[in-house]
Amino acid sequence: MTKFKRNEIEECSTSEGFNKEFAVVNPTKMCQPMGAVQAMMGVKNAMPLIHGSQGCATYMRFQLIRHYREPIEVASTSLNEKTVIYGGEPNLLKALKNISEKQNPDIIGVMSSCLTETIGDDVDGIIKKFEDANIGKNLPAMVSIPTPSYAGSHVEGYDKAILSLIKYFARESVPNNKVNIILGNLSPSNLVEIKNIMKDLNVEPILLTDTSENLDAPLNEKALKLHEFGTSLDELRDTANSKATISITKHNDSGAKYLEKKFSIRSISKSMPIGIRNTDIFIKNVCKVMDLDIPKKIIRDRGRLADVLVDAHAYNYRRKVAIFGDVDMVIAIARFTYEMGMMPKVLCVGAESPRFREDLNELINDMGYKPIILENKDLFDFEKVLESNPVDILIGNAYGASIANKFNIPLFRIGFPIFDRIGTQRIKFIGYTGGIEFVDAITNMILDFYYDDEGYKVEDKELSFDPQSFDEYLFESSAK
Ligand code: SF4
Repeated sequence: MTKFKRNEIEECSTSEGFNKEFAVVNPTKMCQPMGAVQAMMGVKNAMPLIHGSQGCATYMRFQLIRHYREPIEVASTSLNEKTVIYGGEPNLLKALKNISEKQNPDIIGVMSSCLTETIGDDVDGIIKKFEDANIGKNLPAMVSIPTPSYAGSHVEGYDKAILSLIKYFARESVPNNKVNIILGNLSPSNLVEIKNIMKDLNVEPILLTDTSENLDAPLNEKALKLHEFGTSLDELRDTANSKATISITKHNDSGAKYLEKKFSIRSISKSMPIGIRNTDIFIKNVCKVMDLDIPKKIIRDRGRLADVLVDAHAYNYRRKVAIFGDVDMVIAIARFTYEMGMMPKVLCVGAESPRFREDLNELINDMGYKPIILENKDLFDFEKVLESNPVDILIGNAYGASIANKFNIPLFRIGFPIFDRIGTQRIKFIGYTGGIEFVDAITNMILDFYYDDEGYKVEDKELSFDPQSFDEYLFESSAK
């Protein structure tokens, strides 16, 4: 198998003759506490508390509310100039007291921010001080989650939240015959799909964490209250007694590794179950861990996805796509579009990751050509590359809309945030059934954009399908 190292991948990104190192413009990632807050949204009766300035919590709430269109509570210790100089301890103590007394949650997740990490507040020590001063009272669990945003993105934030929750709660007792599944930042519908797959397999999962009900809730007049659904503290405790932990986002597996090291719970970390191959791997892993045969229902769902791929093939074949977003999602969607007959041409992620490169090497070898890779780059770089490398479809979050408009191509919205459409809770691409919805939706978008009412291609929008240029891509990797 041909292996590509980081410098070879970088060559792709700099081969455009464009080099911008002075700043990040329109980043493809968000700050660490954002990921941690999203993990906390899936814990039952939990309150996330940002130890930082008011603006940090407002920013999280703003993005989450306009994406999910649900009421979201994020508390803040609301630091100001004085507390920055003298330390944020009084504010954190006051916030813990107020939240415990007024909202009575089961758990408070205390996320640090750039500010409090920089001034060096000892969050664990302050929590201990509060607990010592309130011995005998019925206090919530208080979990410290270190999330300095200058040292990682929302992906690391989610990972750290899961690790902190597991470290705090996991306790060895009776084996439970369950499987822990670490999810990452996925839509409620995608989580429902994971639950459905586990139901079909007759396996009880512990989801880390389960936002499926909380972030797609019925209309309720009591707008602001704690989430009544989600992963319970008992389930968090029970993670130490499961058969295995499967991380479906490779970059969120620190909790799984901790459980493996401390409690010998097997850890399996694989690509997101999107499309045929990656879903096959997920199903096979669950079946292997639980010693099961794959049920007929699942085999049938797989067949339905294969059927949709064939049905849609005429419209999708050799369409060039550019994908941006979180590393786990970008690489999994790239593979799925390749399975659909499309050509992933430009991939842009906001982080550097050896695991991304591992998956990329596999994909490149399977595809037989090397796409343009923008690793640790932003949407400014992405747009520049697209100027000289036209594609037919953009796939990513709402921040891609202006780029799609500029190049007069459609944007297929997935990822976070999506604030210019409704129904983001119901965007689904996980598993065979989610895959069917994805293929239907993206193919119909192609039909809307590139075909007329009679079903003929619109000539002036004709795509960059060009067998000759395709041949140039083919086996470019082996020629080097
Ligand atoms: S990047 Fe830092 S300062 Fe900005 S919102 Fe995130 S935690 Fe707060």
